[in-house]
Amino acid sequence: MYTDGGISAVPLSQADSRRLVLFDIDGTLLTSSGAAPRAFRQALEEVFGTSGPQHGYSFAGRTDPRIARDLLGMAGLDPGTVDRGLAALWPLYLRNLQSELAVVPPTVYPGVTALLDRLEGETDQVVMGLLTGNVDGGARLKLEAAGLGWERFVVGAFGSDHHDRGALPAVAVERAAALRGHRFQGKAVVIIGDTPADIACGAHLGVRSLAVATGDYSVQELSPHNPDYVFENLADLDAVMKAVLE
Ligand SMILES: [Mg+2]
Repeated sequence: MYTDGGISAVPLSQADSRRLVLFDIDGTLLTSSGAAPRAFRQALEEVFGTSGPQHGYSFAGRTDPRIARDLLGMAGLDPGTVDRGLAALWPLYLRNLQSELAVVPPTVYPGVTALLDRLEGETDQVVMGLLTGNVDGGARLKLEAAGLGWERFVVGAFGSDHHDRGALPAVAVERAAALRGHRFQGKAVVIIGDTPADIACGAHLGVRSLAVATGDYSVQELSPHNPDYVFENLADLDAVMKAVLE
């Protein structure tokens, strides 16, 4: 860190404060207030004739293909049938989602816009990306409908890349390496999300996890999963930036 000329000052270049910052979307940046689950279930009905049980299943923290397999599995469909129908599912889901979001745009959580603007300004230090269970087209629709932009998330790992969220951090690291010629490792990879699954997904890589309690989980519920940091929301810009960069 820099000091006022003291002998302990260490240039940032030596400390290597470069970061790969990966955001979850739903519950972290925004809420689509039920639009996405409605669009998803409608598409399941259209392709498979059922969307499984209507209550008692949470989409939070799960990838889109995982949700399809879970709901349709509970409806008695075998995995092979589900997997064969997924190619037909996504275009219908995206069409339905676009219609839903045109009626009710997503709500952006406090502090999110300012945080993204600040991180985007740190171009030498920060590669900003997404790590989300959304299929890539769904992620784009939600971010654009929320006015948060799409192009500035220069890398991403999506539900369309793998059904298991635990596989996604490595995907994002590979894409960042291809883009920047630098392999982000350990605590230089920052995953920001709202569920225990977001905290757990990068643990095997030793990443830094920032949990935020704007989704379905409270600070008290997230803390036992041992994130590096937990916030009520992302509104305290200085505190969040410190957690990302220190
Ligand atoms: Mg989430």
